[in-house]
Amino acid sequence: MKIREVRTWVLRHELPEIDVFGSSKGWHTVRQALVVEILTEDGLTGFGEAYGPPSVNRTLIDEMYAPRLVGKNALEHAVIWEDLYSTFRDYGRKGWPVAAISAIDIALWDLKGKALRQPVFRLLGGPFRTQVRAYATGLYRHRIADNATALAREAEAYTAEGFRAMKMKVGFGLDEDVRNIRAVRAAIGDDRLLAIDANHAYDAGQAIRLGRKVEAYDLAWFEEPVVPEDVDGYCQVKATLRIPISGGETEYARWGFRELCARRAVDILQPDICGCGGFTEAWRIAALASASSMTVYPHVWGTAVGLFASLHLTAALPPNPPAMLAAEPLFELDRTPNPLRDQLALNPPKRAGDVLDVPTGPGLGLEIDRAVLERYRA
Ligand code: CA
Repeated sequence: MKIREVRTWVLRHELPEIDVFGSSKGWHTVRQALVVEILTEDGLTGFGEAYGPPSVNRTLIDEMYAPRLVGKNALEHAVIWEDLYSTFRDYGRKGWPVAAISAIDIALWDLKGKALRQPVFRLLGGPFRTQVRAYATGLYRHRIADNATALAREAEAYTAEGFRAMKMKVGFGLDEDVRNIRAVRAAIGDDRLLAIDANHAYDAGQAIRLGRKVEAYDLAWFEEPVVPEDVDGYCQVKATLRIPISGGETEYARWGFRELCARRAVDILQPDICGCGGFTEAWRIAALASASSMTVYPHVWGTAVGLFASLHLTAALPPNPPAMLAAEPLFELDRTPNPLRDQLALNPPKRAGDVLDVPTGPGLGLEIDRAVLERYRA
């Protein structure tokens, strides 16, 4: 199954002012992604997606990776992964170069599934679950005076939609964070899971101060309390607080995750399949996590391609630890405005309340709407 062509799609949607939202990193004014399409000589097409601003990923794929792919056997994903990574290792062990490999790897698994007429989760070893329970990712900052009240209303809306778990942003200063957490917890009651995400806005000392102030609100986890480079800081925060700690969305490839796992720097590991190296590498990272008895909740952000790929990965993750009533992985479902996530699939995953069906079609099981691909092409 020879690769004939590699196409890149930079997709971009400017958010109208009303939809602009903020995290501790700044305001999100645009939704954009790099989607890759790999075509084989026998007429199959596979899709993948790369995490991060898309123009660099496009250049990497068009100029560096695609010439190495054409003519290769699309079923040999591990050989291709190693070739791309090793060839450019000296310049790209983290970040964009690995995200670009991720897009290609996801497309190769989509192709493999289509060639074998099997969903990717079965190629990974089979599903431990055919449905996943999602948590709502939202509760961002808005350009208004009273964020706490607005967050409480938004949290109530997720509850009304059937979400039993949700995640809110922190990292806006300790007083504001505490005010917002208190408002959201009061709005959703004590029975629903609430997680907080600082997007690495704090150092270890500040993160511990915040955690101590909000431990009483029974938080499910505290995500990215400190910068990803500060593994010692992660360990300090985790050892000090009674809140589970999560991280990993900005880490790359098995070497990047090795220290987090070996030192058990987090309770919940959050690799992004579109960034960490695709299915091939996410599977190795999940093995590292398993060997360290760590839970994996994949980070999910981006278009329908990443959403579908993440559903397959989540379906195939073994429960940690195994038990008759084992804790199942929670699936991140981004609720912020993004037509690339909502419109790109002709067959969006079926959802009832907070339960999503894992797609069962061959490969990713994703039927791309080519009109939408064209509409958002930058
Ligand atoms: Ca996050």
